[in-house]
Amino acid sequence: MHREQAKQELAGWLLKELDEQSRRERIAFWFFCGFSEADPQLAALPPALRMAVMRGVEPDDTADPDLDPLVHVSLVEDLYGVTNAYLVQALNQRGITVAQIEGNPEPMFACPCCGYLSLSSSASYEICSVCFWEDDGVRDEHTVSGPNQATLATARQNLAEFGACDLASVDRVDRQARERYRAPEAPGD
Ligand SMILES: [Zn+2]
Repeated sequence: MHREQAKQELAGWLLKELDEQSRRERIAFWFFCGFSEADPQLAALPPALRMAVMRGVEPDDTADPDLDPLVHVSLVEDLYGVTNAYLVQALNQRGITVAQIEGNPEPMFACPCCGYLSLSSSASYEICSVCFWEDDGVRDEHTVSGPNQATLATARQNLAEFGACDLASVDRVDRQARERYRAPEAPGD
């Protein structure tokens, strides 16, 4: 199976498994962001939904199945950069037998705190889903990072002790993120 197809299929399953609140949040995102016609994210949407998003009026009934493509596209986006091994495992878990995935994962950057290849860009204030460090570009271990209000040395120690870069983020880190991205020093996929 090709990687793109694998992501589409897995997102289809995740869509069905999504709880009501996460679905609502994902739909709200589209109407909150103020997309315009040129935005590439809109290309995958049916024309009627594209128009609705550009009008920016959030629908009342977020359970409406006509809104499914909005959620599906956002779920596919979340699979950006995940390893092929993860796609195989996640599809197999759902009863779809896949032996191998063709195509390489999108290029990813290592989080300066946990080292997982979890970031789609470097030094652009992206938050790592493995450890919750915000990558503001600080690389020196003993420099205090503004958005994180801590040094990398402290954050790494916190990560080793309780699984997040700081105590406040313990409940916010995605426990499954470690399965999705290439681990530090792991061989290619
Ligand atoms: Zn991290």
